[in-house]
Order: sequence, then structure tokens, then C-alpha cells
Amino acid sequence: MARVFNFNPGPAAMPEPVLQRAKSELLEMSGLGISVMNISHRSGEFQNIIDSAEAGIRDLLSVPQEYAVLFLQGSASLQFAMIPMNLRRPGKSADYVESGRFSQKALKEAQTTGKANVVWSGKEEDYTRIPEPAELRLDPDAEYLHICSNETVGGIRWNRFPEIAAPLIADMSSEILSRVIDVTRFGLIYAGAQKNLGPSGIALVIIRQDLVEREHAGIPIFLRYSTHIRERSLYNTPNTWAIYMLKLTCEWLQSRGGLKEMQRINEEKAALLYQTIDSSGFWRSPVDKNSRSIMNVVWRLPSVSLEERFLEEAKEAGMVGLKGHRSVGGIRASIYNAVTLEAVKTLVSFMKEFERKNG
Ligand SMILES: *Cc1c(COP(=O)(O)O)cnc(C)c1O
Repeated sequence: MARVFNFNPGPAAMPEPVLQRAKSELLEMSGLGISVMNISHRSGEFQNIIDSAEAGIRDLLSVPQEYAVLFLQGSASLQFAMIPMNLRRPGKSADYVESGRFSQKALKEAQTTGKANVVWSGKEEDYTRIPEPAELRLDPDAEYLHICSNETVGGIRWNRFPEIAAPLIADMSSEILSRVIDVTRFGLIYAGAQKNLGPSGIALVIIRQDLVEREHAGIPIFLRYSTHIRERSLYNTPNTWAIYMLKLTCEWLQSRGGLKEMQRINEEKAALLYQTIDSSGFWRSPVDKNSRSIMNVVWRLPSVSLEERFLEEAKEAGMVGLKGHRSVGGIRASIYNAVTLEAVKTLVSFMKEFERKNG
């Protein structure tokens, strides 16, 4: 079977040149004679790989020296637990914006180990928009404010980040490296790898190092950021393959002109889809215009049966992964960095043809 256009939400599309390179090195990596999966994580060769991965992230995002760059296991979901454990001191509270499925999961995890305030919730509005900064009921004593910068299920994202006194913490799983951001605005940024960074199984964590002073003795050693900072992500045997793939992904992004260029392409891709959705009453975007994601574009058709037909025919036409999340239904195109402009153009022409036949 030929390769199809992949709009899966995650694990998701990876750049074809990255897959080709990994394929060519799978059995024998040059200079090793064996696969990268079959060498020690303590070897000089692997150290070079993880160093390059870190350098790639630092370069692409302009990460200052006072921040550590970590590759951890447990993906984004373990960060939901590690963040409150490490950064909210005993007896203190933390602020959470509840803007959709993933920020809700982060909030629930934080509530299991201490006090977490909901400073704004979009639940009543079915998570269709991001709040204005003035709407946040911040607690001046909160240890940090947690947001999900791009809600993968709802298809909404923060265009501008709130300016606050406490450290801002962001789950960027579904948009990391898709646009230019100012890392210094954040205390901690984290992202599961399987959307924009590589295969599943690791999380990227960028943490301002002074924050680890909040740690206390009750935290298991493995779950302390200080452990992984000290051991440079090699405290235990990490997912070496995923780190290698992330390194290749960074090199691909650098060869494409970095984040500025990637953002330009991503905005163009998203605009094509939103223009099509807005062009007629056949399609409907449930999302507030100012909150629209450029990574996960969601929309509805006039009926559920038409949505089912749309998905079926799209699949026949070589486009997969377009089904909305099971909790909300509808259509969702996840157009991460690796999803090409060509893929989006193909989807848009398919939509126009589908509307002509069914509208
Ligand atoms: C996918 C996703 C997660 C969950 O990642 P896991 O790898 O399943 O832990 C968390 N947050 C966001 C925003 C996501 O898109």
C-alpha cells in the first residue's frame, strides 16, 4: 500500500526525510556498525546523540542557559503529576486554567496531592475558547499557573500568554516547535514527543533551574527534576531510540529554516482549512475565532451521518486520522509540522468536492 496523508492527532505524522534517515541507519549507524538501539546509553556514541538532541532544542527555541532541557519517560501524563509534586511546596496551592481535556487531566492529577485552584473553566462553553487574561481569578499566593497552550481535542490555543508574577507552566505537547515562543516567559514547558517531536515514549521538559529549590525529601528520587538535571536525563536507561528520532527531527527543522519558517508554513496550512470551513454554511467551526489552533483544526458537517461518510470517503482518497476525538465527535485535522502543505491542499480539494456532491 502506498503512503497516505496522515492527519492523526498522536502518535502522528513524522517528517519523511527523518523516517528515511532512520531507515537507512536502522541496521548499521555509520561509525557504529550496529543499530543505535543496541548500544549502551552510557557510551560516548549515545552521549553525542543526546547532546545533539539537547543542542537542537536549545538552538530552535533559543533556550537560555539557566534552563535545563530534559528527556524523561512517562510522557506528558507523568508531568501532570511531577509538576505539582516538585513545584508546589507542602501546604501551598497552585493555579490551573481548565480549557479542555488535557488541562483537566493535569488539574485532576494536581488535586490528588494538594490544593489546585481552577482560575478559569471553559467547561460550560464546551471548551470552545481560551480566556482573556482579565478573566483569570489568580491566587496571589499560588506557586505557579498551569495552562495547556494548545488543546489537542478542542482545537483551541493561546495566541498570547498571560503576564503573571508566578511561574507560568505550559503543556505544549501538541504545538511544541510549531511557532516561535519566548521561553523566558515560562518557568517550565513540557511536551509529550509523539505529536511534533518524534515517536511516543518520552517527554521534553524545559525547566528554569531555580525552581528545583522547591523540592522536598518526600518526593521519590526518580520523580525529582533535580535527579534528571544532575544526571542529564541518564539517571536510568532512557528511551534511546526516541531521543535519537528527536535529534533527527531537530536537524530536519533546522534544515527547513527553523521555527520562523515552520510557523509561516503552519499558518498557511491552517488558513487554507479555516478559509474552506468559513466559506459556506456546509462546514461549521465550533471554535471561537480568536482561539483557533493552527495544529488541530476541528469542524462539523450538517449531520453525523455526513461526517461518517466524509471520513469514509477521505480514507478511500488516501487521507487518514481525520475523526474527531471520541469525546466530542466531528472532524479534526491534526496538521503538525510533518504534515505537508501538499497534504492540506489535497484535503481542501477533497472538501470542496465533497461539498459539491453533498451540499
Ligand atoms: C497528547 C497530549 C497529552 C498526553 O500525552 P501522553 O503521551 O499520552 O501522556 C497531554 N497533553 C496534550 C496537550 C496532548 O496533546
